[in-house]
Amino acid sequence: MKTSIYIFLFLILTVYAKIFSQNPNVLIITAHPDDETGFAATIYKITHDLNGKADIIVITNGEAGYKYSSIAQDIYNIELTKEAIGREYLPSIRKKELMSGGAILGLREYYFLDQKDTYYTLDADSVLRHVWDTTFIKRRIQQVLKSKHYDFIFTLLPTNSTHGHHKAATILALSAVQEFQSKSKPVIVGCTLADSTAIKPEPFLGLQTYPITAVKNEFPSAQFNRNQSFGYNNKLNYSIIANLVIAEHKSQGAMQLAAGKGDIEYFWNYSLNSQDSELNIKQLFDRMALTPFKQK
Ligand SMILES: [Zn+2]
Repeated sequence: MKTSIYIFLFLILTVYAKIFSQNPNVLIITAHPDDETGFAATIYKITHDLNGKADIIVITNGEAGYKYSSIAQDIYNIELTKEAIGREYLPSIRKKELMSGGAILGLREYYFLDQKDTYYTLDADSVLRHVWDTTFIKRRIQQVLKSKHYDFIFTLLPTNSTHGHHKAATILALSAVQEFQSKSKPVIVGCTLADSTAIKPEPFLGLQTYPITAVKNEFPSAQFNRNQSFGYNNKLNYSIIANLVIAEHKSQGAMQLAAGKGDIEYFWNYSLNSQDSELNIKQLFDRMALTPFKQK
């Protein structure tokens, strides 16, 4: 009897040792430079505390954000709020801002797909049909997926109320993963940021017109609380990291107002993932919960 208990404990320890020895590889796929701030704390935790790696594919350069560049005009000494000037200069500025924030997050590779950032819309359909080169985008995502092994892909959850570009980016990411031929496909998840004062996050059932966005459960499969504290007298927390990244997006004045708003990063499991995906997500977030902040 005793021997069987020891064998059982040994097996449990072996499984956990295997989980803890694997450094997660994550690919972020978003529409705009700054969308990554929605799950910044989770990315930081993975790259710093779990010794993981994170790369990012950004579909547009966010030049439609020229409207919010009033304060940045003096920082960059360019009349960015004039549409023609903003659209000319913002692509390179926003790439640099993303990479400055990415340095804080520990991002490794940046893949810029240079698609047009036209204007704000809720309509993903028009973006996919008339604005972006979807064949090119899916081919590039597939090439990146083939070039490295990824365990997870992070996208923004395509809720009805989110920007059509966010919806379209996630739809293309899901489509590329669905068509990706591999024995070990990455688990693709959708993220939203919400406030801990809400009792529960809003349920999500997928976009009716895009069945590929269906999720396994209407509520998130995992969450990361930015309020977890560390450092001197436990005065620091992971919200500070998100705020530092937001601050790097200097051309996006209104984005700065997001600092401090939302402290729970929620992750939904899409239906197209394998049966094991729920366990894979749980293991990643369990490991994050058990790993303290690491000081270099
Ligand atoms: Zn965005």
